[in-house]
Amino acid sequence: MNATLRFDLHMHSNMSDGALAPAELMQRAADAGVQMLALTDHDTIGGLSEARAAAVSLGMQFVNGVELTADWRGRVVHLVGLGFDAAAPAFDLYMQNLMLLRDDRAQEIARKLHKKGLPENLYELARAHAGDSQIGRPHFAKALLDLDKVSSMQEAFDRYLGQGTAGDVKATWPSYSEAIELIKSAGGVVVLAHPTKYNFTFTKIRELMTDLLDAGALGLEVSFPGVTPGHQHELIKLAQQRQCYVSAGSDFHSPDQRWTSLGRYPEFTAERLITERLSAA
Ligand code: AMP
Ligand code: MN
Ligand code: MN
Ligand code: MN
Repeated sequence: MNATLRFDLHMHSNMSDGALAPAELMQRAADAGVQMLALTDHDTIGGLSEARAAAVSLGMQFVNGVELTADWRGRVVHLVGLGFDAAAPAFDLYMQNLMLLRDDRAQEIARKLHKKGLPENLYELARAHAGDSQIGRPHFAKALLDLDKVSSMQEAFDRYLGQGTAGDVKATWPSYSEAIELIKSAGGVVVLAHPTKYNFTFTKIRELMTDLLDAGALGLEVSFPGVTPGHQHELIKLAQQRQCYVSAGSDFHSPDQRWTSLGRYPEFTAERLITERLSAA
């Protein structure tokens, strides 16, 4: 039955860098025919209760989620936690630390970009976009758009925020093992988000999966917008070799991003869908 369930286990609200409030996001997912879903904001679980209430009233099966930014051997990876108890006390300190860490990093991004000739009040402008939510590079991209310094989010990343640019400020993210431990201690499961989006070779992805599975993660995403059929095939093969779970999601952020829509990602067939594990929990 799960095989036919329309699910989406990766999406963002305005509690992190998404455009829609959690309840609006749930309404849009229901309109798109999604039956089971998880809200997975970056480094915050602040949107889960609003999203859950809305999802349940719309008749959808809601799964608590979060996309944790983590360090793996000096590289940044994203880990999706699913099906955990959001009331677990361990979240308080962990999330508080991430809030401070992201705020410090944002101030550093602003300093670096000011040195590159951008206005001095960039932090305040980005913070205005983030509100009380987790601040990230997309909020700076929006500020740069407002200032007409760039003409698209992509250009903002290419010139000021992406890998190798001034705004690509390193932070001391929690380690992957800490992230996995947090989610496991709260009764949840962890999968690697969008494995082909880190500029890693497949050899490196396999090494990463070895470490993650050893630390208690259960699987990886094999379908998400932008994954090529060839890469998807490799990811499914990897999951099969490791006998681990597979997940999928739209990574939806905003209706403006025409290449994503809720409940949509390239179709695939694979064994051990994480939805089976979540329904059983
Ligand atoms: P941060 O967590 O602050 O490092 O910001 C990362 C977020 O920026 C990702 O979750 C994406 O939503 C967004 N992002 C990363 N690269 C790009 C890009 N090239 N264009 C637009 N958005 C991007
Ligand atoms: Mn994002
Ligand atoms: Mn991500
Ligand atoms: Mn995401």
